[in-house]
Amino acid sequence: MKCSIKAPAKINLSLDVLRKRTDGYHEVEMVMTMVDLADRIDLTLRSDARISIEVSGGAVPTDKRNLVYQAAALLKRRYRISAGVHIHITKQIPISAGLAGGSSDAAATLKGLNKIWALGLTIDELAVLGAEIGSDVPFCVYGGTALATGRGEHIEQLPSPPPMWVVLAKPALSVSTAEVYNRLDVSALRHAQTTAMIDALKRKDGVAICHLLHNSLEEVTLERYPEVAHIKEQIQKFGADGVLMSGSGPTVFALVHKKSRAKRLYNSLRGFCKDVHAVRLIGDR
Ligand code: ATP
Repeated sequence: MKCSIKAPAKINLSLDVLRKRTDGYHEVEMVMTMVDLADRIDLTLRSDARISIEVSGGAVPTDKRNLVYQAAALLKRRYRISAGVHIHITKQIPISAGLAGGSSDAAATLKGLNKIWALGLTIDELAVLGAEIGSDVPFCVYGGTALATGRGEHIEQLPSPPPMWVVLAKPALSVSTAEVYNRLDVSALRHAQTTAMIDALKRKDGVAICHLLHNSLEEVTLERYPEVAHIKEQIQKFGADGVLMSGSGPTVFALVHKKSRAKRLYNSLRGFCKDVHAVRLIGDR
């Protein structure tokens, strides 16, 4: 039996850090949505009990460090599944980019294995399992547009944004999410206007959404990695309706209402950044 499933990338329309918790995690408030840039996960039942992984299009581990492996191993353990699975990951989402590629792959694997191992789990149950793998996995299980709170694992669905183009540019460097959080001074943050962003989504007000884009981690990453600040400046110079860094970076995305403008921005950025994508928002579940 086989199953093929798409694993789209996410962006944060807003990301606010409220406080550091005693368990070491940060309490966050994030408005997230999906973009039409996806990995593909192909699952094939194995005749033995093994979990095997093959990756094309990107360099990620094929052993238990891969979040996809962790997703399969978790289901196998929890539901005492004797069957094995071969997982082929076709990477399209830039790696270590702030686009939750690994989390989305893990979420797609949970959903695909639920089918081919006939587990009969609900989406809510898959999201709870996803939280054991990573904070962004529950959102990726639901997809669409959502408010994520707690350490990111509590999900409340939101209306999707109006149709818009997204131009993503990833500078050729990796950012350590842990380091960004360590450098963050929570007492001196500029906070996001989360409620206003949610209202803008409810009104499908694209102009307000672009104005309200905010990421509390951006300042730290921009200061630590000038290349990211440079990309952001270039996007602003070339013209976009809104610009923000996604997650802990380094990807910077632009929201653009018009396709012709998105194309122009894409072409301008290609001149000095190799990893650029112009895609649509896919905020619906
Ligand atoms: P986030 O936005 O959730 O912080 P990210 O987009 O910054 O995620 P990922 O692309 O998910 O980062 O990868 C982060 C790390 O996870 C890398 O070190 C990578 O090797 C590892 N990883 C494990 N499994 C995967 C996977 N299936 N795809 C990509 N990276 C993976």
